Amino acid sequence: MADNPRIPYGRQSIGEEEIAAVVDVLRSDWLTQGPKVPLFEQKLREFTGARDVVAVNSATSGLHLACLGLGLKEGDVVWTTPISFVASANCARYCGAEIDFVDIDPFTWNIDPAYLENKLLDAARTGRLPKIVVVVDFAGMPASYKKIRALSRKYGFAIIEDASHALGSMYDGEMVGKCGFSDATIFSFHPVKTITTGEGGAVCVNDPELSELVRALRSHGIVRDREKFVGPDRASWMYEQQHLGFNYRMNDLEAALGLIQMDRLPDFMKRRQKLVDAYKKGLSGLPIITQKYEESAQPIFHLFVVLLQEERLVKNRNLIIDRMSEQGVTCNLHYRPIHHQPYYQRQGSTYGDLHAAEDYYQRAITLPLFPQMSDQMLTTVVDSFSNVVDSI
Ligand SMILES: *Cc1c(COP(=O)(O)O)cnc(C)c1O
Repeated sequence: MADNPRIPYGRQSIGEEEIAAVVDVLRSDWLTQGPKVPLFEQKLREFTGARDVVAVNSATSGLHLACLGLGLKEGDVVWTTPISFVASANCARYCGAEIDFVDIDPFTWNIDPAYLENKLLDAARTGRLPKIVVVVDFAGMPASYKKIRALSRKYGFAIIEDASHALGSMYDGEMVGKCGFSDATIFSFHPVKTITTGEGGAVCVNDPELSELVRALRSHGIVRDREKFVGPDRASWMYEQQHLGFNYRMNDLEAALGLIQMDRLPDFMKRRQKLVDAYKKGLSGLPIITQKYEESAQPIFHLFVVLLQEERLVKNRNLIIDRMSEQGVTCNLHYRPIHHQPYYQRQGSTYGDLHAAEDYYQRAITLPLFPQMSDQMLTTVVDSFSNVVDSI
């Protein structure tokens, strides 16, 4: 084992070109938002087909700005899936809104549209309909947007698509990010995601008013276009702060890195697909299930999750993760349900009966998946997993 390096569950893929691009920015006049940020935004616009893309310093910031831009306030209600990173729920709390959870489909692991519909029927009766539903494309699998969009029209809620996992995935023949079924779609460029800018994210929007507001809120709520000023003063040096915004800007170092990563994205996508196919083949004899495809979805997988199917294995899930680690393979678990977190427990809500999410959480293990994972590494993971499962 000693000469085999540990296999991480995810890892960025940075080459000499990225390093040179970042060094070039360091030698230039612009370290903060300069010419690279709009170029990166343009590249994302071309790739996704969105009318506008606003680059930000993280997906977390992007989710917050989308909530603010859609007018989320104290007293409002937001729903999301419990099987996501905590940021999918925190964005509502930043605006003072309450959060509640919609159970997942036991096979696609995304928001279950049938559960959502029943919950909406109840909420309509009690007058507590959500203003926004944050829908997550779990592991890169676009959710049931045709059904969710129909419900959003009927019940009047907005859709924020948390596509942190789903850059490069397609739904209904269109790139995720085109916002065909959402009011805003958010990407993350954290190092474990499909491409990286170090830290970073983007908000894709089609509505021009919303994108203008998100752009202003990204930088303190400041507007620089004199045509858009609300006051009478219009000196050439002047700007107006029209809203209470934040400093959520991406910088040129990050955007330069992102530009090269976007060029490499098609290769990353191909490699991820190939690895997932090889996993499915390699693990086919084992008592596990993998993620079921949503209708109309063509995912690029960000995570490779398996669900244990036998009680003896389920009981020992944590032990399996530890044994894998002893063999040099770092597994992970995506995710502990958000409402299990102490912060959300302290909010005192009961969060309904999220049976599929609870069951998922008992059974799930995330196996390593990243573009530089070699065929040999994949074989090592498959062999280790088979051995560990046999040993339990
Ligand atoms: C990674 C992630 C985020 C947060 O992304 P950052 O860019 O780190 O803020 C939000 N939602 C989901 C589903 C994620 O996986």
